[in-house]
Amino acid sequence: MYGVLSPVPSVHLHQRGDRGNPTWKGSTVLEKDMRAAILYGPRDFRIEVRPRPRIEKEECLVRVRACGVCHSELHQWEVKEPGLEYPRFIGHEVSGEIIDAGASVRDFRKGDRVAVWTESGGYAEEVAVRFDRIFPVHPDIPFAQALAEPISCATNGVIRSRIGLNDSVVLVGAGFMGLILLQEIRAAGAGRIIAVDVRDTMLELARRLGADAVVNPLRGDAVAAVEKELGGGKADVVFEAGGMQETLDLAADLCRMEGKLVLFGYHPGPRQIKHFGYWNWMAFDIVNAHFRELNVILNGARIGMALLNAGRIDMGPLITHRFPLEAVNEAFAASREKPVGFVKSVIVFD
Ligand SMILES: [Zn+2]
Repeated sequence: MYGVLSPVPSVHLHQRGDRGNPTWKGSTVLEKDMRAAILYGPRDFRIEVRPRPRIEKEECLVRVRACGVCHSELHQWEVKEPGLEYPRFIGHEVSGEIIDAGASVRDFRKGDRVAVWTESGGYAEEVAVRFDRIFPVHPDIPFAQALAEPISCATNGVIRSRIGLNDSVVLVGAGFMGLILLQEIRAAGAGRIIAVDVRDTMLELARRLGADAVVNPLRGDAVAAVEKELGGGKADVVFEAGGMQETLDLAADLCRMEGKLVLFGYHPGPRQIKHFGYWNWMAFDIVNAHFRELNVILNGARIGMALLNAGRIDMGPLITHRFPLEAVNEAFAASREKPVGFVKSVIVFD
């Protein structure tokens, strides 16, 4: 979700072109090149021909079959922020097939279906990835569902929350990440789970994916409704996965005294915590469920991908919008506009 994004390392203008160009050399050029979507500015992805990545001895070359559109990438597609440089070679939720492996790679070979952790370059036909950032994908799992990076984030969020057996849990924010969290909260041994969201379509999905009850704050007093569903009290654990002040405030209102308030949502902006006096008085056990260390991210991916492969996480209902590489701008527009029923855009390659 928070991949570090880097600008394009080099621009090979001499290799740009198309079949209508008389200087195009046909198949000799195609063998060395690949198509990639490069972000040149707000709402301006362009498809270009780029050199294929070369692999080091500890790397695999992966033919990309799917790359998820991440919420963390939306802002740089939408607006030019101060300090943001273009062109940008983004995309980090990648799965695909290994088509070449370096001499030091032992665990993987050509033809393996994998999900990978990469910081950038995912909106392209091929990526080079170190072998220790690659995770097997079961043959029954479609590539579009095998998105290691968001699965890693959710997995680490649940690990860090240390949910107790039979704890009552409220999830505030049942979007794409929230609906992965929900399934892992269930897998971790939670008791009653209540999902809270303002979108009825998301709440229907939450029910399907394991919520015992759902509450829509637009339909009445959410605190009273959750307390009723929990038999009178507040929750032992509340996950805030909305990333807004309102969802944070509601999460705190739903958490019992000395309960666990898990801050999973991403809250950019000024350094402030509103209502800290209340949090302090309520003696909340506050868990910041964010991660920066590579080893932690890879461990979350390893555990989360194992859960996916074992059928304990169902990503099927979450992948609602698929686009070819050429329609990458449309894929981002869908993620921004979120039409009814939208959960996640994924770029898919045939
Ligand atoms: Zn992501």
